[in-house]
Formats: sequence, C-alpha cells, structure tokens
Amino acid sequence: MRVLLAEDDPRIAAHVQRALEAAGYRVEVVGDGEEALFRGETEDYTLAVLDLGLPRMDGLAVLKRWRSAGRHMPVLVLTARGAWSERVEGIDAGADDYLPKPFRIEELLARVRALLRRAAGLGSPVIEAGRLTLDTRLKEVRLDGIPVALSALEWRFLSLLAHRPGEAVSVGTIVEQLYGDDDARDANAVEALVLRLRRKLGGEVIETRRGLGYALATTPA
Ligand code: CA
Repeated sequence: MRVLLAEDDPRIAAHVQRALEAAGYRVEVVGDGEEALFRGETEDYTLAVLDLGLPRMDGLAVLKRWRSAGRHMPVLVLTARGAWSERVEGIDAGADDYLPKPFRIEELLARVRALLRRAAGLGSPVIEAGRLTLDTRLKEVRLDGIPVALSALEWRFLSLLAHRPGEAVSVGTIVEQLYGDDDARDANAVEALVLRLRRKLGGEVIETRRGLGYALATTPA
C-alpha cells in the first residue's frame, strides 16, 4: 500500500507519516502542490492524503488536475477547521473523504482504512448490511428486499454507517457529516434521527455502541 502525503506543515506531515508507516503503509511526503501534482500524475499510489492549503498550487487545483488526468486513487482531503465551502468544493472536485484540522490521528487512520475498503469494493454500488440493502447509485434502501421511503437526511445517515462496515461511527462524526458547521445541531438531533429510523426499519437494524457511536447491524436479525 503506497500512500502519497501532500502536507506543507512539517510537524503534521511527520506525525501523519509516522502513524501511517506504523500502520504498515509506505508513505511518500511532498510539501507543495506542484510536486504533489507531478507525483500523483506519474506514480501509482493506492491512496493520497492531500492538504488543501499547499504552497505553489493549492490542493483543490491538484485534485482537479489528477481527476481530469484520469487518476482515480482515493483521496482524503485535509481542510482547515470549519472551512465548510472548502469541503464542498473538495468533494465536488473528486475528494473521497475529508478531515478537518485539527484531527485525531486515529480518525485519520480509520478514514484511510475505510477509503481503501471502499476502493477495494468499487465493483458494486450496492452495500449489504444485515437486513438492509443500500443502492448508493439510486439512493434506495431496502429492508428484507422491500423499498423503504427515507428522507435525504435519513439516507445520508444510513449511507454514512454503511460505508464503515463493522465500525461504530461517533456522534461527533455524524453531526459533522450530516449537519456540517451548524452549531444548533447536536447529539440530540442524532438521537432523534436514530429513533425515527428505528421506527421505520425496526429496532435492531441500527446498533448503539456505548461510548463509541452507532453502527449498522451486519448479521440478519
Ligand atoms: Ca497547509
């Protein structure tokens, strides 16, 4: 597993590099956008971790150029804290996931693992989780094969859990992913959403992992 890490802050770069290497990845670090562009276009990486605020060429421009050059490795984008518009632009430009700074290194590693799993399973847009089937292209959810009508928010929540199979997703991550920087939303909103979904899908479909968050049940009830 070869990872390109584009980060101009030497302290963050060293920290992330050490953690990725300890997790068994081969890491190459570049400190500016032009070098990142060049390496990403000419070398094969399993995954890239890309800071958006890079000297010489910003990360967003690098990502767009990679994608238009047909480079499809999963890209985890690092954004400045609270830079909501950056995140939207990053995803539009072809980022597979993003992580706002400052982040816990454990979370970065978890995101990297999830991206690699997703990349490995790209053959199918359909995710099976216990009694649920999620068609990520049609945004359709079936319970025991029967379509269930969901709101956009409910879909995003289930989809978020389904993309991290077997893993509990923390309430903080859920709030961040579903509501962005809307401070009015909190753990109570997530709890209410889970209650609604349990009424629609049955209580056992979404598991509460105490102290960790929520996960989809992976075995049929
Ligand atoms: Ca930076």
